[in-house]
Amino acid sequence: MSSLDLVLAAIDAADPDRLRITLKRVCSLSNDTLELVCSELLVAEKAAESQKKASESGGNGKEDNSKALKRKRVEYNTIRFQTCIQCEQEFDATKNEEGCCRWHKGELEADEDPNMWPDFEDWRDGEYDDWKDEFPERFLWSCCKRRGDDEEVCCVGKHMSAQEHASGKSG
Ligand SMILES: [Zn+2]
Ligand SMILES: [Zn+2]
Repeated sequence: MSSLDLVLAAIDAADPDRLRITLKRVCSLSNDTLELVCSELLVAEKAAESQKKASESGGNGKEDNSKALKRKRVEYNTIRFQTCIQCEQEFDATKNEEGCCRWHKGELEADEDPNMWPDFEDWRDGEYDDWKDEFPERFLWSCCKRRGDDEEVCCVGKHMSAQEHASGKSG
């Protein structure tokens, strides 16, 4: 086994926390390794947007835009891969478009109709909530009263990061 094969196998075998520590060390090794990790994990999304706006706004904007393109260093300002606070999935900030996030704004709650739980005994089976994965049809979304096994959701839009959510609140 070559050392490349071996290190690839080691990456698969390692705990995610171990990989985080390793990657943080790689970042502090040199400017090149830092730039490499930045280009993988960050995007210059907001800079791109403001350049676009400047070029749309007319003459002066075009000048600013060409200056910005000449600038060598990319100014990253957005984390690329984040966990959405709505659907709780990881998303890619460069591919976050309307309609890619589908979620419920409420909570999944047990339908307490005893007919839904014919052989349930709390002394033996514990809490209703422990059975969400096994019997989603016995739960209702508090927001729209859809059953847990219904594919339909009540909210559709873009993914939302915790960072974006916080900045939206303050501004
Ligand atoms: Zn809902
Ligand atoms: Zn989402």
